[in-house]
Amino acid sequence: MRTNLRTHPTRPLTVIRNLGILAHVDAGKTTVTERVLYATGATHKRGEVHDGTTVTDFDPQERDRGITIFAAAVSCDWDGHRINLIDTPGHVDFSDEVERSLRVLDGAVAVFDAVAGVEPQSESVWRQADRHQVPRIAFVNKLDRAGADLDTAVASIRDRLHTVPLVVQLPIGREDGFTGVVDLVRMRALVWGAGGEAYQEGPVPDDLREEAGRRRRLLEEAVAELHPVALEEFCAGAALRDATLAAALRDLTRGGEGVVVLCGSAYRNRGIEPLLDAVVAYLPSPLDVPAVRGTLDGEVRERAADPAAHFAGLVFKVAATATGRLTYVRVYAGTVEKGDTVLDATAGRTERIGRILRVQADRNTEVDRAVAGDIVAVIGPKSARAGATLCAPDAPLVFEPPSVATPVVSVA
Ligand code: GDP
Repeated sequence: MRTNLRTHPTRPLTVIRNLGILAHVDAGKTTVTERVLYATGATHKRGEVHDGTTVTDFDPQERDRGITIFAAAVSCDWDGHRINLIDTPGHVDFSDEVERSLRVLDGAVAVFDAVAGVEPQSESVWRQADRHQVPRIAFVNKLDRAGADLDTAVASIRDRLHTVPLVVQLPIGREDGFTGVVDLVRMRALVWGAGGEAYQEGPVPDDLREEAGRRRRLLEEAVAELHPVALEEFCAGAALRDATLAAALRDLTRGGEGVVVLCGSAYRNRGIEPLLDAVVAYLPSPLDVPAVRGTLDGEVRERAADPAAHFAGLVFKVAATATGRLTYVRVYAGTVEKGDTVLDATAGRTERIGRILRVQADRNTEVDRAVAGDIVAVIGPKSARAGATLCAPDAPLVFEPPSVATPVVSVA
């Protein structure tokens, strides 16, 4: 097994985002996922939840029950970045699976319903994500619904999730008349066409200029309060440059000190592109998160997200499919190649990596190798189970179990 000194004709890790979408059942997670896959070109047909064609809900049982039960990972590309979308079950009965998904994420989008705001189940998932220190951004969805109100939803995020909402958009129009947003970081208006096509960007409309200015000011104040560099600039010039604001929002998101809030209507395909831009701009890459720790014979070992290090990965889902037994692996360190023999350090058995697949919405692409930071499905391992550590046989380690026991939460 060659674990070191490989050449890696892959993209730098900084362009990877391992992303989860967290939501209360019915908030619109499936629809947001669909629209993300559509916007990124991973699917060419827009799936609709009601006609059962959504690509992430591929399990028949899942479709029948109308909830997302089983995690799946789907890769798509946005603005030169690879987004690995890890489906996080929204139903609390499957809390262990939520916990496993949260372990392999580097960041998440929390979806809220603009009418209901933060619901009890969103609080439970939020707390789980807190325990795993998963940086998040919030997407207030369903802004087209009667009774939808961004400000009320934001107040519930502040009050119930005990976090600092950093609202970076001002909606244009209300309820059925919701057509777009003012991007408060760049002070530009983004307006979607009636058919859900890509947005048109333009100057802030005259009638919203004062309100947008006021909200930009509130955003700057909130950011300056939390971020020393922003505070210095704010005090010196009584305003923040767009670039300083964006950099501060990135730092605050990654440090978990605040939550960037965006809004839209997934159903009407409004707000998805800025959401993807925010994922790329604010959420961390695998390089921006701490090295993973594992143990062997009581000795703690660290593995940094370095493609040249010894291979180590975590199995987070195993699925029986028509293609074969798919073992989904988050690679934390090193490189794994087709044909490699790896050690299932949890079970103490070796396994062979027959094929490596990048799972996309409408097809799987076979690749020769996967490197630190990436998420792939492998075919070959016969008995590795979810939660197992796969690693280089000559550098074994077992990932530490999640630091917190999984609480059983009930739906209120
Ligand atoms: P999930 O349970 O969180 O996966 O939610 P779904 O994506 O299945 O959405 C639940 C319901 O809300 C479905 O009937 C969707 O069509 C609807 N929905 C999703 N997004 C929106 C939206 O932006 N506006 C409106 N009005 N309905 C939406």
